[in-house]
Amino acid sequence: MYDFTYTTSASRVVFGAGSMKLIQQEVETLGARRALVLCTPEQREQAEIVSALLGPSSAGIFDGAQMHVPIENARRAREYAKSVDADCAVAIGGGSTIGLGKAIALESSLPIIAIPTTYAGSEMTPIYGITEKGLKRTGRDAKVLPKTVLYDAELSAGLPVDLSVVSGLNAIAHAAEGLYAKDGNPVMSLMAEEGIRALSNGLRDVKKSSADRKARSECLYGAWLCGTVLGNVGMALHHKLCHTLGGTFNLPHAQTHAIVLPHALAYNSVAAGEAMTRIARALSVDAAADGLYELNRKLGVPGGLREIGLRETDLDHACEVAMSNPYWNPRPVEAVSLRALLQRAWEGSRPCP
Ligand code: NAD
Repeated sequence: MYDFTYTTSASRVVFGAGSMKLIQQEVETLGARRALVLCTPEQREQAEIVSALLGPSSAGIFDGAQMHVPIENARRAREYAKSVDADCAVAIGGGSTIGLGKAIALESSLPIIAIPTTYAGSEMTPIYGITEKGLKRTGRDAKVLPKTVLYDAELSAGLPVDLSVVSGLNAIAHAAEGLYAKDGNPVMSLMAEEGIRALSNGLRDVKKSSADRKARSECLYGAWLCGTVLGNVGMALHHKLCHTLGGTFNLPHAQTHAIVLPHALAYNSVAAGEAMTRIARALSVDAAADGLYELNRKLGVPGGLREIGLRETDLDHACEVAMSNPYWNPRPVEAVSLRALLQRAWEGSRPCP
């Protein structure tokens, strides 16, 4: 029986190879005239291309985006935007650069245009994260949702295969948890299942040939769908665990998501049967958690959390932090089972409920 409330946030999406070239037109469509381009130091070259495409509408480049958006960076970027009289910002990059754009928008309401070059999905969400004194504070605010998103598959072609794989699996995690969200709805579930299908197929092909443009486009299409799901419905145990592991032990964000997801799904499989059926169907496998575990192996994801810097002696503390202030979850979160889940994710052993 259906029982849901459906609200969605509006943003403009322009999808297509070469769509970055439309940037000047999109700035005008927003009613802006001076766009500050944001990027990481590593993506300066791409930002220079955007700035050149903007011509007289470019207010310059701020290339100080960093992982987890340190507050000092956000302040510097805000001041810089003010000093060059920017009336919009163009964030070209992954979740870290788009996160910097969101941190600017949070204080100044500057409209953001995002040009994502990974598959993490931040561009479709009103969720921001800012790190202050080692603690990452996250929140939701409609102001930070990018007004326009240009999805240009040619840009992600340069994303190394290992980063492509984990960022795509990060997006799959949004969709997977969206399928059993407390506030889920049929439209988001359609997007989630299609997003998992597109990304898992696209990633298999990118692994075979990193320059495969059709596969890159398929991944980006999946990223859009999965990011939209993250922006519209609540997340559960998996995201809580990854948040804990990233925040407390400074583990790399996307890799952590990729490793933990099969284990979190196995944990929830007993309480979210329909979601598991849809995830399995999207992956073309018999069982969601096991199928994802096998997909990880095929795509060369690190086997366990021990391979990305977590010590076995940290597992008890990780369990305690994850148990404190837990997110809603379809299966009640219970310490002994959660500790066992973490052990398996650390070892990289096969997931089980
Ligand atoms: P990232 O933005 O941290 O990028 C990783 C590195 O890859 C950077 O050095 C970047 O410059 C480089 N890179 C990006 N695209 C490239 C390309 N096409 N070619 C070459 N190099 C490229 O990685 P991410 O996984 O996209 O983002 C992770 C961050 O995003 C985390 O902090 C996470 O919390 C956040 N995130 C936020 C949301 C949200 O809704 N707020 C959603 C997902 C992720």
